[in-house]
Amino acid sequence: MRLSGPWRGRRSFLLLAAGGAASALAAAPALAQVSVGKSSMARNLVPADDIEQAGAQQYTELTLQARAKGMLAPDDHPQVKRLRGIAARLTPFAAQWNPRAAQWKWEVNLIGSPQINAFCLPGGKIAFYSGILDQLNLSDDEVAMVMGHEMAHALREHARARVAKNAGTGAALSLGAQILGLGQVGDLAARAGTELITLKFSRSDETDADLVGLELAARAGYDPRASVTLWRKMATASKNQGGLSFLSTHPSGSDRIRILESNVPKVDGLYRAASGRG
Ligand SMILES: [Zn+2]
Repeated sequence: MRLSGPWRGRRSFLLLAAGGAASALAAAPALAQVSVGKSSMARNLVPADDIEQAGAQQYTELTLQARAKGMLAPDDHPQVKRLRGIAARLTPFAAQWNPRAAQWKWEVNLIGSPQINAFCLPGGKIAFYSGILDQLNLSDDEVAMVMGHEMAHALREHARARVAKNAGTGAALSLGAQILGLGQVGDLAARAGTELITLKFSRSDETDADLVGLELAARAGYDPRASVTLWRKMATASKNQGGLSFLSTHPSGSDRIRILESNVPKVDGLYRAASGRG
C-alpha cells in the first residue's frame, strides 16, 4: 500500500494507539479490583480444549434430555430472554479473566425444575433452573451475581483443575498419556464430563468465583450489594429446605457474606462508572 502525506501521519498515530492498547491489555490482570490468586497450575495437566469439549457435550445431553421431557424453556420465554440479556452484559468482560473466553460460544438455557440450581460448564455453557429464580425471587442484580459466580468457575478453570487433581499426579497422567496415546487424555476429560454439572469445588475456589463474579457483574453495571442480599436469601433457603444440591455445595455461611461485604467497596467504582451513577 502506498502511503501519501496525511495518511502516513495518520497511520503512525494509529500504530501508536494500537501499541498503547496492546500494553494496556498485557496489564489487564493488574486492573482487577478484587484480589485473587493465579489459576491453579494443576489445570495445565488437562488440555483446555478437552475440558471445554466435555462441557459442551454434557450441556448438549442435558438440554436434549430437558427438551424431551418438556422441561427446556423456549427461546421466547420471558425468563430465557431475561437471562440471555444479563449474560450479554456480562460476557464482554469475560476475556479479561481468560483469553480463551473470546472464542467461547456462550449459551444460556432455563430448565423448568423447582431445584435451586445454576451452573456454567467449561466453555461457557450456562443453565439456570427455574427454582433459583422463583423460590429466591431474584432481582436482575442478584441473577447477575449468580451468573457471574458460575461464569467465574468456568473462566478460572476450576473444573479443569479439579479433573486434573482427581486424575492423580501429573506423572501418572503423562505416563498414561504416553502409554495410551494422547487421545486417552481427552477420554479422561470426557469421562469426568459426566460429573461436571455436580462437581463440588473447594472452599477457596468458591471464594475465587465469588470475587471474580462480583467484579464481572460490577463492570457490567450490576449493583455489587446484590451479592450480599443473594447469599442472605440462599442462607434462608438452606435453613428452610436442608441439603439441596446447589445449597450444599455453596454454603452461605457468615464467612462468605462477610468476604463479599468487604469486597463491595473495591468494585463499587466500577459499578458506578458502568451504570452511570458516578
Ligand atoms: Zn460455586
